[in-house]
Amino acid sequence: MRVMKFGGTSVGKPERMHQVSQLITRDGEPTIVVLSALSGTTNTLVEISNCLAAANKQGATEKTEALEKHYRQFILDLLKSDTLREKANNIIEEHFEFLRITQRISLSDALNKDILAQGELMSTKLFSLYLEQENIEHALIPALDFMRLDANEEPDLALIQEKIQGVLVQHPTKKLFVTQGYICRNAKGEVDNLKRGGSDYTASLIAAAIKATVCEIWTDIDGMHNNDPRVVEKTVAIEQLSFDEAAELAYFGAKILHPTCIWPAQQENIPVKLLNTMQPTAAGTVIKKEAGSVGVKAVAAKDGIIAVKIKSSRMLLAYGFLRKIFEVFEKYKTPIDMITTSEVAVSVTIDNDDHLAEIMEELSNIASVEVEKDQTIVSIVGNEIAKTDAILKKLFDAIDEIPVTMVSYGGSPHNISLLIPSTYKVKTLQLVNKGLFNL
Ligand code: ADP
Ligand code: ASP
Ligand code: MG
Repeated sequence: MRVMKFGGTSVGKPERMHQVSQLITRDGEPTIVVLSALSGTTNTLVEISNCLAAANKQGATEKTEALEKHYRQFILDLLKSDTLREKANNIIEEHFEFLRITQRISLSDALNKDILAQGELMSTKLFSLYLEQENIEHALIPALDFMRLDANEEPDLALIQEKIQGVLVQHPTKKLFVTQGYICRNAKGEVDNLKRGGSDYTASLIAAAIKATVCEIWTDIDGMHNNDPRVVEKTVAIEQLSFDEAAELAYFGAKILHPTCIWPAQQENIPVKLLNTMQPTAAGTVIKKEAGSVGVKAVAAKDGIIAVKIKSSRMLLAYGFLRKIFEVFEKYKTPIDMITTSEVAVSVTIDNDDHLAEIMEELSNIASVEVEKDQTIVSIVGNEIAKTDAILKKLFDAIDEIPVTMVSYGGSPHNISLLIPSTYKVKTLQLVNKGLFNL
């Protein structure tokens, strides 16, 4: 059995849903299809939620109305018969009635997550009706019945495995299943999500849970490119990446993949393919155990980074100093991305400032602390990158004019990371494209 995930743009138009229906039935292989919300929907739901949080009821109502209009037209274009259109309109009515009710009650964290879940619930139900129209036999299986988080808000793979098996055995004759990406339940049983871009993560988790033959991520580009195509003009698709390389790229900002979506597939050694719905015959990128080649493959950038610079003369020869520092970050569940040290100082980066004030206060009891915001991590990724001829010289020659604030090299054999002020991101990615990729 395989998993095929289609992102927002791949289902964002009625004709795309038609394309998807052809791709998922191309060879009759048993398939679990994971769908995102129609493109733009989750962004609008976030905006509605923000309006409610700011007590801007009118804003929320206007956005809800505009979104509903979009879905009503989508139904007209997607479905031909009155019966199916009526069914679809009833479904949409239900979800928008829910959104309208939320505007009359006060917004809690749990309600916010319910609002964000509406996109995937609607896209899968509409797609299921389209499959019904095309006489394509399938079962719509609710992700909320098997996608679970544990008490640490991490996916509970063992529980997901158990639950999804229980769901699949209820449909012994079916070969095609459709489910929602992104949404799940947390340890308290409430509706939750896998964070923005989380449908990739759903696909990889399901692939691991059912030990799929392959996890295909269908999107609007022909695979992982060597650089961010939204920022740099000339980029090229990469044929093959190892799980480790892909995980670094995803974590350090390559938007095509959710930051932590590689580990489940890697754990079960399931190949992940990145493919283009708009150009299905393009080779795309395959992600598997082997890297395929040695050397620099891609660069990615992650914004919204905060550098925390911790300085203490007592650090000199003081064992246990780093432990004390890390314990503070651990206490506030704030992961550290980059670390550099000197004899009297240690600098770390974080991307989550929820507890920055508390962290600063506790650290200031141990050392002097400075914070620099609006930083970007630029990561150069490639298998055994150190073996690339004069890699550091090439890199620093290329970005000579950029004021680099931190460097991390040697931590893993496939990553060099630089910290730069975010204002230099575009320039840095362009210079790396020229200097390291000759593009
Ligand atoms: P989906 O909605 O299908 O999940 P996303 O928008 O999340 O699609 O991801 C695909 C987009 O990721 C591409 O359109 C591209 O602009 C962006 N992207 C950023 N970095 C890369 C990269 N290194 N390679 C390919 N795409 C990238
Ligand atoms: N719809 C969600 C989002 O926009 C999940 C996803 O598309 O992967 O973030
Ligand atoms: Mg995505």
